[in-house]
Amino acid sequence: MNLRLTVPRWFDGREAHARRWTLTVADGRIAGLEAANGASPFDVDVNLDLDLDLGAEDATLLPGLIDAHVHLAITNTDPATRELPPALLALRMVRNGHAQLRAGVTTVRDLGAPDGLDGQLRRAFAEGLATGPRLHLAGRPLVAPGGHAAFMGRPVASADDARRAVAEAVAAGVDWVKLMATAGLSTAGAEASEQQLPDAVLQAAVSEAHAAGLPVAAHAVAGPGVRAAILAGVDSLEHGYALDADDVAAMHDRGTVYVPTRTVVRQVAEAFEIEGSRPPARARAAAKRADATHGDAIRRALAAGVPIVAGTDYQHGALPLEVALLVDAGLTPTEALRAATSAAARLLRRPDLGTLEVGARADLLVVRGDPLRDVRALRDPLLVVQGGAVVWCAPELARRGVSASLGTRTLSPGTPG
Ligand SMILES: [Zn+2]
Repeated sequence: MNLRLTVPRWFDGREAHARRWTLTVADGRIAGLEAANGASPFDVDVNLDLDLDLGAEDATLLPGLIDAHVHLAITNTDPATRELPPALLALRMVRNGHAQLRAGVTTVRDLGAPDGLDGQLRRAFAEGLATGPRLHLAGRPLVAPGGHAAFMGRPVASADDARRAVAEAVAAGVDWVKLMATAGLSTAGAEASEQQLPDAVLQAAVSEAHAAGLPVAAHAVAGPGVRAAILAGVDSLEHGYALDADDVAAMHDRGTVYVPTRTVVRQVAEAFEIEGSRPPARARAAAKRADATHGDAIRRALAAGVPIVAGTDYQHGALPLEVALLVDAGLTPTEALRAATSAAARLLRRPDLGTLEVGARADLLVVRGDPLRDVRALRDPLLVVQGGAVVWCAPELARRGVSASLGTRTLSPGTPG
């Protein structure tokens, strides 16, 4: 669809612009960006499906957000509910994807799903069976036998087995290889800081993945598995609740990206209820310890120049909270917004996403207020566009004649304030 949008201010994924501008979209891509009232290619001979002038509103245009760490197949922290039959999980994944879109998240990196469900979901989106965020996916993560995330993982027993597992992942069409280097907050029978994949397995998996052209993400919360994953050469380090000065120096040297996922630590520490279930008390105590050091880890990474990217884990549509938590840890609003747009796109190797420039994909978010002054404005979306199609709009825009594929319903009840 062809649309024209006039806004009083915008953030292009890197910098803010406090001027009235008009953005035009054709065939799913940004076709023009110019000072409002300038000549538009659409003034001449192109029919507009939507011409929305928000120039007099208190509103800000941004690129569609990117959540770089989700599991659409996981809805809460109760291990029993993670072992649901695949058809039910698939429908929940669609619902969780809708929650992401309504929050302005037009792209996600799904870092682990059972049974290849993430790949099947992407195919369903491509066939038009459902609407959802663009999916970059990892399929079944490589896990220690019986270790963290064993319910969805591909158990790996040796370096040779790791090479086979990566070859299987490549054959399954994944975009990322995911390694569970350490245990996690909710792992039964293990301290979160326990290293679960040995150094030789991490090294074999990374070299095999890189040889196949695939990047690697490592779940590594704390303990020796963090440094082992960094030294093995993973492209992104997930969680890292207690990074020290040597960790961040090693990450800076190797260009490792840090995805702290502060949202999930807060969720478990504060025991937010998701769908009627709360995290187990054991995980809650571990999360409180993690939360106590996480802010310092983020500040160290920031000071060392390590790229920081926003990810939530399994609270679907909570990316605005993650951005606010990054600001709380010391990022400026501009840095935190980059973490959810251009920096995330760089991690995903998608120069056409996370940016507002001519030729980029027309994934757009308009929010009320100015998130560059106060990122809490991200919680107040007005309009979400994906690939040039309006997927969600606020009721006040619906009254102005805007129609959206997901209608005007507000965020899902599982989303924290
Ligand atoms: Zn995760």
